[in-house]
Amino acid sequence: MNVLVINCGSSSLKYQVINSESEQVLAKGLCERIGIDGRLVYQPAGGEKEITDAPMPTHKEAVQMVLDALVNEKTGALKSLSEIGAVGHRVVHGGEKFTTSCLITEEVIKVVEECNDLAPLHNPANIIGIRACQALMPGVPMVAVFDTAFHQTMPAKAYMYGVPYECYEKYKVRKYGFHGTSHSYVSKRVAEVDGSDYNSTKTIVCHLGNGSSICAVENGKSVDTSMGLSPLEGLIMGTRSGDIDPSAVEFIANKEGLDMAGVMNLLNKKSGVDGISGISSDFRDLKAAMDEGNERATLAINMFCYRVAKYVGSYVAAMNGVDIIAFTAGIGENSGWLREMVCDYLGYLGVKLDAEANKVAGEEQLISTADSKVKVYVIPTNEELAIARETVALAK
Ligand code: ADP
Repeated sequence: MNVLVINCGSSSLKYQVINSESEQVLAKGLCERIGIDGRLVYQPAGGEKEITDAPMPTHKEAVQMVLDALVNEKTGALKSLSEIGAVGHRVVHGGEKFTTSCLITEEVIKVVEECNDLAPLHNPANIIGIRACQALMPGVPMVAVFDTAFHQTMPAKAYMYGVPYECYEKYKVRKYGFHGTSHSYVSKRVAEVDGSDYNSTKTIVCHLGNGSSICAVENGKSVDTSMGLSPLEGLIMGTRSGDIDPSAVEFIANKEGLDMAGVMNLLNKKSGVDGISGISSDFRDLKAAMDEGNERATLAINMFCYRVAKYVGSYVAAMNGVDIIAFTAGIGENSGWLREMVCDYLGYLGVKLDAEANKVAGEEQLISTADSKVKVYVIPTNEELAIARETVALAK
């Protein structure tokens, strides 16, 4: 079966068509600037990238352009749309309602809408994408795969915040966690690669990208993760602050004359390694600046690695041990120097990196030495493939 995987943002739409038998990507790309002007990027397997500027007032026109490109006579990866057997939609927030992926029905959409408050930027866009696909591909089964679902196995002691219990009862204020599709895929995959039993292994997955989070996976279940009610909690990220004293929100608001939305914008978009360095959120730029002796870039990188190492330590405590640490996502997969900086903190666990193996970028690789007490791996994440697998399992 061919699966169309859709990841809708407020003004963008990323897509891939994956054949579920071969697990090959037949075509991929994205629509950008939806509602502004519109640009389609389309790339068939083994073919050139095509860029087309065309008006996309809504996500519906964007989906239509993707479908047209997929069956284009010259460069289309498919002969007809009937070759798409199912559509898998990434949905950011499933609240407490969704503990697994599910076939999309009107009832499911209603429940996703009820979670809009928890992810006001993402969930409405996800629903628009679902509606657009339903309108253009009636009768094709659609599946929702939630970023939060994998973490629904966390125990209450891990997901509750120390605020009045009524805030949880009334408004479901709690930790949900994100990147669940990635943490689930990587933790399973690393057990496979290592030849260990997923259901009796303690794994810590470090998903280090523009958005970053860490997850403790014990016996195949997420038992804690660093993102929270929203993706703002936890690690220092590209532009997000991660953990801070909540009092700093009021303090900054008063000093800068900002309202609540203004401070949240500062914490989400102007903070993190970008805000600290004043240079960039991109770790390639930061590394170059650090190598030239830039102090704030060096500070930003040091803060990032220190925070990662502290979370790893706390999850070793949470699980009373760790067998495998896996690095993934843009930074985790590609930056050996940063993995080394993180692992330098983990000597007390008996972690020893193999310097030669740690040069790997973007490939599955054991990067610890034979006598390391904890195995350390690089495992490239593949959220689209994970979504396609879930979709096929439910659409069959
Ligand atoms: P997201 O999916 O959250 O937008 P990514 O997982 O793509 O983010 O990660 C983006 C980050 O990965 C950037 O900071 C970028 O510098 C880093 N990155 C991507 N490719 C490389 C590379 N080849 N070498 C070093 N860092 C890289």
